Amino acid sequence: MNRFSWTAMVFGAMALLASCQKDEALSAGEQEITQETLARIADLGFGTDKVERHDDGYLVEGDIVLTEQMLNSSPDRKTLRIAEVEQYHTFNLVNGLPRTITLSASGRKVPESLTNAIQDAAARYNDENLGITFQYIGNKGGGDINVKLTKTRQYIASAGFPSGGDPYPTVNYSSGYTSYSAGFMATVLAHEIGHCIGFRHTDYMNRAYSCGSGGNEGQATSGVGAVLIPGTPSGPDAGSWMLACLSASTNRPFNTNDKKALDYLY
Ligand SMILES: [Zn+2]
Repeated sequence: MNRFSWTAMVFGAMALLASCQKDEALSAGEQEITQETLARIADLGFGTDKVERHDDGYLVEGDIVLTEQMLNSSPDRKTLRIAEVEQYHTFNLVNGLPRTITLSASGRKVPESLTNAIQDAAARYNDENLGITFQYIGNKGGGDINVKLTKTRQYIASAGFPSGGDPYPTVNYSSGYTSYSAGFMATVLAHEIGHCIGFRHTDYMNRAYSCGSGGNEGQATSGVGAVLIPGTPSGPDAGSWMLACLSASTNRPFNTNDKKALDYLY
């Protein structure tokens, strides 16, 4: 099995270990998450399978951070019909276009591979001539979206969704994944930036499509939302940069449907 989710491979091994110890005590991370919190996560439209504690809130779907602030907000209850098609975004998007979004890196010894990958990811977006332009400003932090190098085995990278018309401000990137190929790293960063500006997983309705197992990540008509982007095809798309899982050799530049979706939103 060479597929792994945005949750680090190491976590896969940990999950396996945990399942061998069924009926014994839950891990510390699991104990901290109350039923009330799980209910609020479900209310926002996310699956409650494998919810974990994250420095900035809770980690769902392998790489999406839900902050306390987001959990405490009242979900927008408007119902949106989801057509039989493929690209999905959240209700909240980045406003005030055209707009430049600055990107930075921070952390101890940010490797060149990471700063190159951030710039590659920015170039992938900028090549589409969107209403948002990404600009890398260096590795001392301070960007609208800061890529923070973290020592974690919990995930490869993580990010959240926009709020108040602004992008989610942080992408955490695990230092264990800084010596992968340039294409892999640019794909991971373009994917996390995709969450920061409001893209959900392309196969959120069936993670098994890219992950090999797993079900629907969450409801589509309330909470954070999973709104169909018109003109994108039905069913998951084999090459989309917003698929929930990837392998160590994955490189997913934007495909035709990705470009259509980006162009529609921005
Ligand atoms: Zn993701």
